[in-house]
Amino acid sequence: RSDMAMYEAKAAGRDALRFFDPQVQAQMTARVALEADMRSGLEAGEFELFYQPKMVHGRITGAEALLRWKHPVKGYIPPSEFIPLAEQSGLILRMGQWVLRTACERLALWSSHPVLGQLSVAVNVSPRQFHEAGFVPEVLEALAGTGADARRLRLELTEGLLLQDVEDTVAKMVQLRGYGVGFSLDDFGTGYSSLAYLKRLPLHELKIDQSFVRDVLTDPNDAAIARTIVALGTSLGLQVVAEGVETEAQRVFLERSGCHAWQGYLLSRPLPGLAFEDLVLEHAASAGATA
Ligand code: C2E
Ligand code: MG
Ligand code: MG
Ligand code: MG
Repeated sequence: RSDMAMYEAKAAGRDALRFFDPQVQAQMTARVALEADMRSGLEAGEFELFYQPKMVHGRITGAEALLRWKHPVKGYIPPSEFIPLAEQSGLILRMGQWVLRTACERLALWSSHPVLGQLSVAVNVSPRQFHEAGFVPEVLEALAGTGADARRLRLELTEGLLLQDVEDTVAKMVQLRGYGVGFSLDDFGTGYSSLAYLKRLPLHELKIDQSFVRDVLTDPNDAAIARTIVALGTSLGLQVVAEGVETEAQRVFLERSGCHAWQGYLLSRPLPGLAFEDLVLEHAASAGATA
């Protein structure tokens, strides 16, 4: 009898935990609300693409498009908070489509300008979006629908994407590559990509993850990893880009290690389109003046 009572109490306790833990309940409610906000926000134009310049040998050669969500009540919500949720709910498909389209519109807008027309734009692609059956046609449609030049579009993929289906990944990359689209492997060194994949993938670029760049001057292991990635990428004929460069000392260290391409707050944070364009034009003017 007492055993039975204990069992009942435990069962009730378990159910209580499962259904009435106010903290879990609150978290779930918040997620559901945020997801609904994200859905309506996409319709309402609350999402914006920002652009962070990429420097190669002292010149701005392109931009990485980074998504920003200006929530009407909560203000700016960082991608690290809403991208995972969008991945889980599947909303990433429509969101990713919007990002591609918007980035291509910008590229097309720049195409007739003597300076801006030289730039490329890199778009981050989430694994779920990439592995969707319609991904390749979706990219082609964004290009054709805007008139953007495929050779100025670069797609940033992460190592995690390779784990799911290498055959599918290679096939899609080769197909898009045929139209001139370029590929970067983002956050390199943080995932599980096998070196064997590296030679199979039609890549242009490796991006050294910012976690290695941050302490590159003080942590000998990070310095060794950064140098190794530069050597590996360079010998495979890839451009190696350092992410998250914040100080001149980091930039100089990387340059001495053979890495001549970088992004980071040292030059600029991601900017709204117009501010990015101003920065590029100012930079080109001063480079021209000193040349
Ligand atoms: P990521 O593609 O690796 O982008 C680099 C992140 O580093 C960006 O964060 C950028 O703002 C930040 N960053 C750039 N320079 C510096 C620096 O000098 N110091 C520091 N501390 N950070 C720097 P953000 O914009 O918050 O984006 C975070 C991640 O969210 C991105 O990482 C990317 O994985 C994802 N993401 C952003 N936009 C999109 C998108 O349109 N689609 C998809 N699928 N993912 C996106
Ligand atoms: Mg990226
Ligand atoms: Mg990255
Ligand atoms: Mg990242």
